[in-house]
Amino acid sequence: MDPNPQLPKKWKVMLIGDVAVGKTSFRTRYIRDVVKTSEAPTIGVEYETTPIVLKDSTTAKVVLWDTAGSEKYLSLTTAHYKQSHGALLFFDLTDRETFDHVSFWLSQIADKAEEDTIVMLIGNKSDLVKDNPSARKVSEHEAREFAQKYGLMYHETSAKTGKNVKEAFSDLLEAINRSQMGDSSRDAKEKEKERNLKIRIYRELGKLDEGHDHNEAVQPNRCCC
Ligand code: GDP
Ligand code: MG
Repeated sequence: MDPNPQLPKKWKVMLIGDVAVGKTSFRTRYIRDVVKTSEAPTIGVEYETTPIVLKDSTTAKVVLWDTAGSEKYLSLTTAHYKQSHGALLFFDLTDRETFDHVSFWLSQIADKAEEDTIVMLIGNKSDLVKDNPSARKVSEHEAREFAQKYGLMYHETSAKTGKNVKEAFSDLLEAINRSQMGDSSRDAKEKEKERNLKIRIYRELGKLDEGHDHNEAVQPNRCCC
């Protein structure tokens, strides 16, 4: 018997972030456990479905929506944020600009995704900073503080070596599962309230960006995906 008959058959998870931060590599690593071999950039949106088993033994299918980070495809990619259960928001630990653009991507999520979409911030390419700390352009402390401020989970991963990829994704799925199961404990309700409050804050952040000069500072200006 299915212990959780109300569990949705499919969860939609968006992969979001600047060009070349490793979104497609993360997808390939998670689904096939291999390094992405093609250098071809993602055009628009690609999706792939994978079955998953959760800690409580329930099963679901996850559809990973892999988006191009290019401004050229912005309206196309953000149109797909609707009805997503979760989002992985990537930056490259060795590229400061990609971290500076995270607030832009958050404002897009706040505008286009559902209020209860669960967001995880991912600092990718940890292999490059492991043996060469000077390559790191965003400290773990700063990234964690930022994530905490906006109510996001945070993980550092390497899509190249696979380090922490499964663990990060599994944490996101467990959080989605808890929210889908409608955990009615007091703690869960408090957390939910806090998370929605954070979402309202970054919705504000999006509004602040609209039509102001400093918009430029948060627009991803690197293209191409
Ligand atoms: P996307 O545009 O965000 O989908 O990025 P891609 O997955 O296409 O990766 C862009 C480039 O970064 C490619 O050359 C990848 O091989 C490389 N890359 C992606 N993830 C990692 C990683 O974790 N470590 C290293 N060293 N390179 C990576
Ligand atoms: Mg890609």
